Amino acid sequence: MEYKDIIYKTPVKYGLINYEKTYEDFGWEEVKRSFEHFSHDGVNIAHEGIDRHTSTSHRNKVALLWEDENGHKKEYTFSDIKRQSDKLANALKGIGINKGDRVFLFLPRIPELYISIIAIAKIGAIAGPMFSAFGPGAIKDRLLNSEAKALITTPELNQRVNEAKEELPMLKYIILVGAKDNLKKGELSYESEINKASEAFNITWVNPEDYLYILYTSGTTGKPKGVTHVHNDMISHYITTKWVLDLMDDDVYWCTADPGWVTGTVYGIWGPWLNGISQVVYSGRYDAEKWYSIIEKHKVTVWYTAPTALRMLMKAGDEIIKKYDLSSLRYICSVGEPLNPEVIRWGLGVYNLPIHDNWWQTETGSIMIANYPSLPIKPGSMGKPFPGICAKIIDAKGKELPSGKHGFLALKPGWPSMLRKIWRDRDKYNEYFRTSGWYATGDTAYMDDDGYFWFVGRADDVINTAGHRVGPFEVESALVEHEAIAEAGVIGKPDKERGEIIKAFVVLNQGHQSSDGLKKDIQEFIKKRLAAHAYPREIEFTQNVPKTRSGKIMRRVLKARDLGLPTGDLSTLEED
Ligand code: ATP
Ligand code: MG
Repeated sequence: MEYKDIIYKTPVKYGLINYEKTYEDFGWEEVKRSFEHFSHDGVNIAHEGIDRHTSTSHRNKVALLWEDENGHKKEYTFSDIKRQSDKLANALKGIGINKGDRVFLFLPRIPELYISIIAIAKIGAIAGPMFSAFGPGAIKDRLLNSEAKALITTPELNQRVNEAKEELPMLKYIILVGAKDNLKKGELSYESEINKASEAFNITWVNPEDYLYILYTSGTTGKPKGVTHVHNDMISHYITTKWVLDLMDDDVYWCTADPGWVTGTVYGIWGPWLNGISQVVYSGRYDAEKWYSIIEKHKVTVWYTAPTALRMLMKAGDEIIKKYDLSSLRYICSVGEPLNPEVIRWGLGVYNLPIHDNWWQTETGSIMIANYPSLPIKPGSMGKPFPGICAKIIDAKGKELPSGKHGFLALKPGWPSMLRKIWRDRDKYNEYFRTSGWYATGDTAYMDDDGYFWFVGRADDVINTAGHRVGPFEVESALVEHEAIAEAGVIGKPDKERGEIIKAFVVLNQGHQSSDGLKKDIQEFIKKRLAAHAYPREIEFTQNVPKTRSGKIMRRVLKARDLGLPTGDLSTLEED
């Protein structure tokens, strides 16, 4: 395809200067030396992420620059976060929360969410962040499965928990941020607990293999799984943040993800703070102008976001970009879904910066495949494996396939942040390791002759049409290049003759009308770009494409709705 030839490269002075050499020489053991305490019984990610900075020149450095949609701002230094999390850790211990207990978080992106996650780690308990937009069913599922002992939420959100409380006998405490009065049995005020608590706290040193957090996957392909991670993950968090997000001491970093999605926990809390970086948190909803104003106001230098957000910004148009001074930006990364080459090209035009795609999963716990500043970008490719990561394309039997061949994307197990279990589901966990010697990602991809990986699709989403295998991403990417199309979701629709035909659901840009003529025009447009069998025989115009709260297109929902079948677990569906 034409876009594979377009290559960009960013000059680098620090960080990962020489990818190939680093990949050859790299060892995870070496990374442990970046931490203050790393011994068998003496680690704690919260010490490395927060506390240790308070005995260095970073003590008064801003850790968190917080802003809400009304423009209210708060700033916390590393010392502030230490003090507040120490107090909360004392309070949690005081009510009997111990190492290994699950404490779930059902909060908007307010500073208390970030402080709570640190405090929970400090006592060796296990944090479970959840999106604040979850409905009662989604909350109940997660609290029940994890057998959470405490929940930190707000009085308003607590109403949704109340609906399910009877069925949650393990849930002993509900800690409410901003509660005025009228606390019911089992409810505590976050503020009163913090006020009462002592500032003197001795961190709980844990084993690197002790659990740190449980995050339920995005639910793109089915019912979310309780992926469980450990303190040892800090090794991966630290070094991937440094080398993939290219963070340096004077950066102002903004990760737009909510901690309810793994990106917001790993690269919106741990990764940057392990590196002592100042980060911005904007608690409001997506809004193009608001987002640009956040970059301008806080002079954001490094920005980590997702393809859906970038596509929405593209749809919002180039004119509004001119209203803002975005000159502070120096580096942009994207994750979560395939990044359409069209978006990279657009970004290069309007931001004057390439967007660096990277690939990973809740289960992998950190970035596995990425575009690095020092490597040329091939738009549409996820990049190359992170040092220490062995990624290959294999067939169903586990045999490695040569470059150019489509197959299953697999990783050699054993990197520091690999999932340690699926909470209360041993069988599900074992499924990842069914192919002997491999961790199966469930994605299909291919590697080119230069060692770059190209995403094809989720194994379940790949379409088989008249004997040809087509990944929906390839078709979606070509569709969004059409001037009338803002967004597209593509599925395989059962067909007697061809096995499956390609069906596209498309959202039009403003100013374009749906018509049969436009359908034809789109089909011709795709035929010119892709192989003849890959054009959508059916096109449906739609107002939106169903997405998860982490911004991923839910093709299984498109398909089920189209075929009139049950839609399955919808707990993570984003509803507007
Ligand atoms: P579930 O496992 O519950 O169906 P999910 O797989 O969407 O949900 P996540 O762990 O948030 O949950 O997402 C990981 C998946 O997201 C990857 O397996 C891949 O399919 C997709 N993904 C992530 N980053 C990229 C990327 N850069 N390019 C293409 N796909 C990506
Ligand atoms: Mg998955």
